[in-house]
Amino acid sequence: MHEFGLMSSILDTVNSSAAEAGASRVVEIRLTIGEMAQVVEEAMVFALEALSEGTLCEGAKLTIDFIEPRSRCPECGVEFEHGFYNRACPECGNPLTDIIAGKEMYIDSIEVDI
Ligand SMILES: [Zn+2]
Repeated sequence: MHEFGLMSSILDTVNSSAAEAGASRVVEIRLTIGEMAQVVEEAMVFALEALSEGTLCEGAKLTIDFIEPRSRCPECGVEFEHGFYNRACPECGNPLTDIIAGKEMYIDSIEVDI
C-alpha cells in the first residue's frame, strides 16, 4: 500500500504551508490524482486519519479528483481515453502509445481556518 508514503509527504507539505499561513487547522485537502497512479481513495482517507493525529491536518476532509487516463498514438495521432491496462490505439492497434494524462499527482488546494 503506497498510500501511506504518499499521504505522509502530502501532509508534510500541507502542514508546513498551513503553519506558514498562520492557520489554526486545515479544513480540507483537495488532491488531483491520475488513475494510472493506482491510488485507492479509501486507503488515502485511512492514511490521512492515521498520520494527521496531533497535526494541523487532524480532522481535515479529503477530496480527490481522479483524472481518466488518456494516451496519444504516435503513428496516427489519435488521442483516446482508456483503462489501466488497455493502452493500444483504437484506430491502428499500435500498442506503444504515449500517456498524456492520468499519471498526475498533486495538491490542488487546501482550505484552512485562521
Ligand atoms: Zn494509432
